[in-house]
Amino acid sequence: MIYDYLIIGAGSAGSNIAYALKTAGKNVAIVDKEGIVCGASGAAGAFLSPLPGKKNSYNSLVNTALDFSLDFYENLLPESIIKKGVLRVPNNNFDETKLSTNELKCKHIHFENIDGYFYSNAAIVNPLKICNQLTRECDFFLKDAKKLVYKSGCYYLDELKAKNIILAQGVNSPLVSYPYVKISPVFGVRIDVKSSTKVPFNIHKSISVSANKEDGTIAIGATQQNHSLLDASCDTTCDKCPFYIDTLKQDIDSLLKQADELIKLENVEVVNVLKGARATIKSYFPILGKVIDYEASLKKYPSIKKGTKIPSELLEYYPNIYTINALGSRGFVFGPYLAKILKEHLLDDKKIPKEISLEKLFYKIARKET
Ligand SMILES: Cc1cc2nc3c(=O)[nH]c(=O)nc-3n(C[C@H](O)[C@H](O)[C@H](O)COP(=O)(O)OP(=O)(O)OC[C@H]3O[C@@H](n4cnc5c(N)ncnc54)[C@H](O)[C@@H]3O)c2cc1C
Repeated sequence: MIYDYLIIGAGSAGSNIAYALKTAGKNVAIVDKEGIVCGASGAAGAFLSPLPGKKNSYNSLVNTALDFSLDFYENLLPESIIKKGVLRVPNNNFDETKLSTNELKCKHIHFENIDGYFYSNAAIVNPLKICNQLTRECDFFLKDAKKLVYKSGCYYLDELKAKNIILAQGVNSPLVSYPYVKISPVFGVRIDVKSSTKVPFNIHKSISVSANKEDGTIAIGATQQNHSLLDASCDTTCDKCPFYIDTLKQDIDSLLKQADELIKLENVEVVNVLKGARATIKSYFPILGKVIDYEASLKKYPSIKKGTKIPSELLEYYPNIYTINALGSRGFVFGPYLAKILKEHLLDDKKIPKEISLEKLFYKIARKET
């Protein structure tokens, strides 16, 4: 059988695009070397929160994606989402003004010993349940994809054949090179704790504390550490990585201490610890679209480096290879919305918005290279 789409990576990005294409009637296979939702997506909180502040292109994207994704999860699997809102507590990045200067509806409240702004449009979701549901109707293969072979209009990955490839590899080295997208891994830890204290809503400052989940536990998480070896690529999960700096005990203590400043959790027992690396680019925007062949495009049009404007449709692209990546700290906010945009691009030829397109990054990096 020749699949219409073969997706590499079964995290939030890969699972969402697999679902979008499968429900549109396409033949979809998905491969992952670790299993479904074993990368960053498995470690995620997974909090879905609005991004407050004066309106700009990034928070508009986040807040549009949030509205879409909340509805999407509620329809997909209502038992996988708990929507109790979030209390945002001012910190260094988000002071009082940023939290209250908004088009978003929020309410100033005093809770226990803290003051913050309450946004009702926020939730927590269950990554495992969601990604399993999204990929249920697709063929899944546990496989480390090493090399794609392109022959007579078809891609071969060992015994699998497909017309189109979608790379949803998170922080891992991509199967084809696109050096104009500089992905950095940002590491983080999430713990699940049991406590006799009931948490009424999510609370977010520099870390996030969730409302009680369906099993009664509370998630506490943060992703903030840049790896000290910035040029090392992520080729495996943190627990198997030779470069991983094990600060787990300090990380857990720090999460518990910071959580304690937000809400007094009594009789705490840590029942689950997960760590992972999320993929982020400098601008924080996610990226989406057909993969431009950097070398071939510059060879064809060397004057791009001097600023000549070459229309994007004339650039050289890898045939039928697409990517969806750099979901940053909002993998479960962006996942369904970006999958919708990519599906509409693939099936209905709709344009990808400039700010998340690969073309924007391509021109930026190519023009720097003189
Ligand atoms: C601790 C932590 C907390 C977070 N909290 C939140 C949160 O509260 N809310 C939120 O929205 N987001 C959160 N995030 C971010 C979110 O998890 C990520 O943005 C999102 O999961 C990224 O999804 P992805 O599919 O792009 O990557 P991943 O989930 O990392 O998936 C990529 C997959 O590709 C596979 N892969 C790569 N290369 C190959 C190959 N060659 N062959 C086979 N398989 C391959 C990997 O095994 C991996 O499973 C958090 C992240 C972390 C680490």
